[in-house]
Amino acid sequence: MTALNAGTVVDPAVVSRLTEEESRRLADDHPRCAALHDRARASMPGGVPMSWMAKWAGPFPLHVIEAQGARFVCADGIEHVDLCLGDTGAMTGHSPGPTVAAVREQVARGITVMLPTGDAAVVAEELGRRFGLPQWQFTLSATDANRHVLRYARHLTGRPRVLVMDYSYHGSVDEAFATLDPSGAVVPRRGNIGPPVDPAVTTAVVQFNDLDGVERELRRGDVACVLLEPAMTNIGIVLPDPGYHEALRRLTRETGTLLVIDETHTLCAGPGGMTAADGLEPDVVTMGKAIGGGIPCGAFGLSAELADRIRTSVELEDIDVGGIGGTLAGNALSLAAMRATLSEVLTDEAYAHMLPLGQRWADGVAEVLGRHGLPWHVTRLGARAEYAFAPQQPRTGQDAAEADDFALQTLLHLHALNRRLLLTPFHNMALMAPTTTQADVDAHTAAFDEVATALRTA
Ligand code: PMP
Repeated sequence: MTALNAGTVVDPAVVSRLTEEESRRLADDHPRCAALHDRARASMPGGVPMSWMAKWAGPFPLHVIEAQGARFVCADGIEHVDLCLGDTGAMTGHSPGPTVAAVREQVARGITVMLPTGDAAVVAEELGRRFGLPQWQFTLSATDANRHVLRYARHLTGRPRVLVMDYSYHGSVDEAFATLDPSGAVVPRRGNIGPPVDPAVTTAVVQFNDLDGVERELRRGDVACVLLEPAMTNIGIVLPDPGYHEALRRLTRETGTLLVIDETHTLCAGPGGMTAADGLEPDVVTMGKAIGGGIPCGAFGLSAELADRIRTSVELEDIDVGGIGGTLAGNALSLAAMRATLSEVLTDEAYAHMLPLGQRWADGVAEVLGRHGLPWHVTRLGARAEYAFAPQQPRTGQDAAEADDFALQTLLHLHALNRRLLLTPFHNMALMAPTTTQADVDAHTAAFDEVATALRTA
């Protein structure tokens, strides 16, 4: 995409020249990472173990030799402040002590046995306490949690479609890779690889904060559930309007539609995500990533009523072949990691440290934007903050998407990386871990000031 709002103040030719300079600098500083990448290209497409890792800004992705707390060291021996934190998978900081200890102990006592360990009920109780839902199931990823919940929702309601927000992201979930075209029709999202069916068949799409749209779709009576993040976090941050969640809850109840809240990223808002912080009342909550401190895991919580309806409507004989599960789901290692992470790492005290840092990061960026007269904005959601290339906060995913500027974003990420700061690759997000420091945040503010100066004076 070309510079839109940003283009009024930032010259694309300058962005391109600065990007070339920063790319050269990255290559000069990282010969060992470059050599590892060269070797990897012979055996993996793009030289990466998963295709999206090719999207990091720069001529090659850095290779990591060690990650601890809010830092990692690349193969060239350079220490970086990690503000990406595995795009929330490492919101706990890398390899948090209590999780490592619990995993080390469990790994020597059985990793996957297809039988429950005592940790499972402890984790379920703790998640129940945090999110106000009493019944829990465990998966290997947030994607799986979402996929399973969509199946249950269709099974329980007998309705075929699900409703998602335009430009939402819930993992590699087929139904959610849908967007609206300019005429308002549901179409596959740009980049959707091999959709199994036309998403218009499975999915209703509305803009975030558009309650009329929700009402119109739900009144058709064929929507099994609404699946949404309580604030959008995957197309920049889009916050809910005052009263949005109350109205959404009312509409879903009135139409017998299940309300599924995906807290995978919004767990940054507090120990019980936005569900607890804002008193939301979902029928189902889904999550993954951070709750295992980096060990693969996912979970979904159900109301007592839903759990009961599932229990009485799925035959025991068929329970292993119904499309819900995964051999490694609920394995002993994941549960040990979740138990330690929830009880000793993502604690109230940790959030008391992380949330003010999120504010400090956002304040620093806002001050730089103001001083340089850049018409962009910054939004904070708990320990997460993000800047975007438009003067106003978006109200919808579409607003946020229109502010996108891939070339400019690439430059800013590359510039930060050369100042030893890692931002999340897919947007301009920074996340605070319990081990992030004020100095880390201030280092970002200084680097951001430097690039803003370069963009304004070049
Ligand atoms: N839900 C949300 C809100 C997410 O942002 C993501 C991934 N970024 C997922 C679910 C899927 O997580 P995973 O890829 O770990 O399955």
